Amino acid sequence: RAQLATTSYDSELTLPRSGLLGNFIGGKWIKPVSGRTMAVENPCRRDTIAMVGAADKQDVDAAVAAAKAAFPNWRRMAARARGALLTELGNRVSAHAEEIAKVLAAETGNALRTQSRPEVASTAEVLRYYGGVVSEQKGETLPLGPGIFSYTTREPLGVVGAIIPWNSPLVLAAVKIGMALGTGNTLVLKPAEDAPLAVIKVAELAADIFPAGVFNVVTGTGIEAGAPLSNHPDVSKISFTGSVEVGKLVAHAAADRIAKVTLELGGKSPCVVYPDAATPEQLDTCATNVINAMRFARQGQSCTAGSRLFIHRDVFEPVVAKVVEKLKAMKVGDALDEASDIGAIINAERYGEVCAFIREAVDRGAKVEIGQVPAPANDTDGFMPGPVVLTGVDNSWRVVREEVFGPVLVAIPWTNEDEMIGWANDTHYGLAAYIFTNDITTALRAAERIDAGWLQINRAGGQIPGMSYGGAKQSGIGAEYSIEGALESYTYRKSVTVTV
Ligand code: NAD
Repeated sequence: RAQLATTSYDSELTLPRSGLLGNFIGGKWIKPVSGRTMAVENPCRRDTIAMVGAADKQDVDAAVAAAKAAFPNWRRMAARARGALLTELGNRVSAHAEEIAKVLAAETGNALRTQSRPEVASTAEVLRYYGGVVSEQKGETLPLGPGIFSYTTREPLGVVGAIIPWNSPLVLAAVKIGMALGTGNTLVLKPAEDAPLAVIKVAELAADIFPAGVFNVVTGTGIEAGAPLSNHPDVSKISFTGSVEVGKLVAHAAADRIAKVTLELGGKSPCVVYPDAATPEQLDTCATNVINAMRFARQGQSCTAGSRLFIHRDVFEPVVAKVVEKLKAMKVGDALDEASDIGAIINAERYGEVCAFIREAVDRGAKVEIGQVPAPANDTDGFMPGPVVLTGVDNSWRVVREEVFGPVLVAIPWTNEDEMIGWANDTHYGLAAYIFTNDITTALRAAERIDAGWLQINRAGGQIPGMSYGGAKQSGIGAEYSIEGALESYTYRKSVTVTV
């Protein structure tokens, strides 16, 4: 189906040559034992960007062994010295930002200008944040009486296995690298099969920073490389970001050997508009916030997408009309094109699923405010459905209840706040929420009542280094992005009681 067009990218992209076909294990790029490779495709252009190694259990075993061997020395290094290496990696990412961003845009379909460049900047920021903060691994002391006290230290767990998705692969890799390595663990990272190239580029930059075996990367599918990593007896902790479905498999595997788990899973996040946030003067800002919350510029492929829009009935029509007007002005196109605001869905399978959600809702009578039921995937066109806003939907429909992971927003009018909060919480997800109102009491009352790991009031931005981020309900276990999350999830507390 796809053409092998690797050479056409030579002038346009700086591909990670040394690491293209290999896994990064024990400080070296090593071909998979099986010799097999897999293609990484550009979802906008529908050609092959590059072939990468397809790891399986044998390669995972080698990577875990390398990480295990490197652990004793790495854990003894002073935390601030480990932090300095993370900072160095962050600085190198900044120095190579543009070439990394282009590779990221090509493989993910996330527009270079609106998404991929900012993601690379966040990646460097996250690495430098952990670089600075990991020296703050302090313990406590407990005086127990004359001549007796206890103190605590934070101890690393050992080998961490990290598995990440394709939607924000680079910044998610940076979070795992910062948390695992900063706290003194060693790491085997498995990027998603659809988007491993930018991560490989960062691994190339890291190759001479960390001692051999401290940071390892295996590229492969979930079944062939992800499952052996989560099942591995020498992996003390699994840090997984991805779907609820796979998160449950990973948690089961970890439970068999009481390995620790961090799970960052999906969402169906509410975005609530109160009437005072949508006065004629504020309508424009309100619509921009709604569009940003929905992550339309990332094709809605974000775990934190505010994909259920609850608008007060008094302002329902004007808000929907303004959102539609603004979406019409956004350009859907090739992710590498500077003019594009919105790119492509990652692959044919996901595109098909997104189309099915839209078709089903339309068949049931939803009103399409913008967009259409996309044409089925063919062999040549990019997977670009463009933004879709649906009204006239029912809370029982799949498009309202399940994570679409595509650019599909459902808008629902409300009049009674209690009822609206009930709808907002009527989901097994609890990742994010957005509240738009100028009234502080209203905002805080809603924030208190909505079940979510992260609420934003009058803001629709991305995660912030230093702020703990994680899901409630089935959206996850544990927190990332902060030092507190790293200490809770990537270390254990050792208590020592001393009599003198
Ligand atoms: P996915 O669960 O299909 O895949 C995620 C990763 O798991 C990939 O690397 C994949 O290869 C691997 N994997 C697949 N099967 C596996 C198995 N049996 N054992 C071990 N690993 C396996 O998810 P996806 O489609 O790549 O990503 C989209 C999902 O990720 C959405 O649900 C989204 O909400 C979620 N997500 C969550 C966050 C967050 O921070 N909460 C961030 C980004 C994405």
